Amino acid sequence: MKQLKEINRAQKNNMYSLVLMSFMLGIVIVAQAYFIVEIVDRVFLQDTSFSAVIPYLGGLLLVLAARSLVTYVNGRTGVKMAAKVKGDFRKKLLSKYKRNPVQASLKGQSGEKVSIMMDAVDEIDSYFSKYYPQMIQTTIVPILILIAVFSQNWVSGLIMLITAPFIPIFMIIIGKSTQKKSEEQLEKLAAFSGRFLDILQGLTTLKLFGRAKEQRDAIKQSSLDYRDATMTVLKIAFVSSLMLEFISMLSIGLIALEVGLRLVIYEQLSFFTAFFVLILAPEFYNSLKELGSAFHAGRGSMGAAKKVIEELEMTEQPVQWGERRLEINSPPTIKLENVSFSYSEGKFALNNINLEIPPHSEVALVGRSGSGKSTLLNVISGIVSPTEGRISVQNQSLFDYKEKDWFDHISYISQNPYLFSGTIEENIAIGGRGITTIEEIQQAAKKAGINEMIKSLEEGFDTMVGEGGRGLSGGEKQRVALARAFLKKPTIILFDEPTVGLDLQTERILQQSIKELGKSATIITVAHRLHTIKNADKILFLEDGKLLAAGTHKELLASVREYEQMVTVQQGGETG
Ligand code: ADP
Ligand code: MG
Repeated sequence: MKQLKEINRAQKNNMYSLVLMSFMLGIVIVAQAYFIVEIVDRVFLQDTSFSAVIPYLGGLLLVLAARSLVTYVNGRTGVKMAAKVKGDFRKKLLSKYKRNPVQASLKGQSGEKVSIMMDAVDEIDSYFSKYYPQMIQTTIVPILILIAVFSQNWVSGLIMLITAPFIPIFMIIIGKSTQKKSEEQLEKLAAFSGRFLDILQGLTTLKLFGRAKEQRDAIKQSSLDYRDATMTVLKIAFVSSLMLEFISMLSIGLIALEVGLRLVIYEQLSFFTAFFVLILAPEFYNSLKELGSAFHAGRGSMGAAKKVIEELEMTEQPVQWGERRLEINSPPTIKLENVSFSYSEGKFALNNINLEIPPHSEVALVGRSGSGKSTLLNVISGIVSPTEGRISVQNQSLFDYKEKDWFDHISYISQNPYLFSGTIEENIAIGGRGITTIEEIQQAAKKAGINEMIKSLEEGFDTMVGEGGRGLSGGEKQRVALARAFLKKPTIILFDEPTVGLDLQTERILQQSIKELGKSATIITVAHRLHTIKNADKILFLEDGKLLAAGTHKELLASVREYEQMVTVQQGGETG
């Protein structure tokens, strides 16, 4: 893969060290064979005294030590390379996610995606720690052995030269068929886990409809499929290693036969040469075979690397902010001119929206579910940037301002506010600037109508929420977000009103909250309750991404039939 090669090139020093170590290994292997043969030759055939072979024994010891050292350094270099590459990938991923967290989270790239990517980075390891060093080793060591053998006995060298290619050729053939099979296996695994998760999540529904048993059978079938796919891959792997073993044994046998014949019958070879060749032959084929197993490990790695690289290449259009300061103490005028926006091409789009929101106004966004109300809030808040048109704040383009200045001025209470992992107190406190006392937090919680509920919890404001903590309902989360807004005292409040009915008590608190926040802020609400709608200074009626009408409740009732219908349906006839 191109990118992996580039990464390799960037690691020149490690690569040189790998090449050097491989040369050393080749030399050490040949030297080891030389010393063993020399010792045996002298002791058994030449009847030399033990003391005369001591230098050779010493040499052998030294060579063995060198071999372990070289293997160690080689392994270390590989691990170092892998660690560096993984570190680089992680940094790139993090900076990518950091650069654009809001868009990413709108696309559902949450913690889950990050953790999948981080796992993928870990999988890249074996390419650099195993495959790559082995590849260098296998290109160098066999050649050195071959040279040594040729220098002693060219016939054996020729046999090696002819048989050697069979191993890589065979490996490539096997590799091709396993790749397809292992892809199938992965698909089966994905199908199995997908199905398992689906069923687990829908368990209550399935029980209620008496469909649990059928699904149990489906899970069983799916898991059996996965088992079969795994077994097929394993079978191929085992057969292939058997075949590789077979080829190399056959080749070694051939060399042994040749050497034996020439030594004993034709007396063309010395014992030294014959033995030397026989020791080196298995080393030669081993080195080739090791590349095979490293290749399998490397292949999985390459898949993971591909996934990570693709992710890195996928760029969302980031929202570009400027440097202008937004210095205001009261709500600004917000204007949308010919604003269009879509999450992705060809899908739902907000279409050519024009509107002006004067300071301190209370704006209600109404429309059917899916008409684009929440999307319009995303656009106004500056979380996403319009595909066309312009949003201006105090007659300046919104995106000319500093990002922080703008976000300091707004509170966005979305329909599913995010609670990070921590206590409720901490979750409310992020709304405040600087240090916030517990009294302030309690005050904010009271205004948001969630104080009672929190106090009724066993651990009160110290209750852990968010990931791994206690779950809160959508409405409760929204009230935590509302409490944040009370601490923050923004000049613009965007509120995606809960669709589900609230109890009277909560509803009243909510009304009061909004009213109080409204004293110092412009309020833009996605409204479902008639009360909010009727109280608004301006109602924006959305349909299918288009702004169908704007005006007060009375005006719209009188002039827009669709609006009247909607209100009638919502209120079961009591339009009031
Ligand atoms: P409303 O709030 O009026 O019910 P939304 O603004 O939430 O409507 O959604 C309008 C359309 O945009 C829907 O068709 C919805 O499927 C789509 N949509 C909403 N959020 C996203 C998103 N993050 N990515 C892609 N499409 C989205
Ligand atoms: Mg919505």
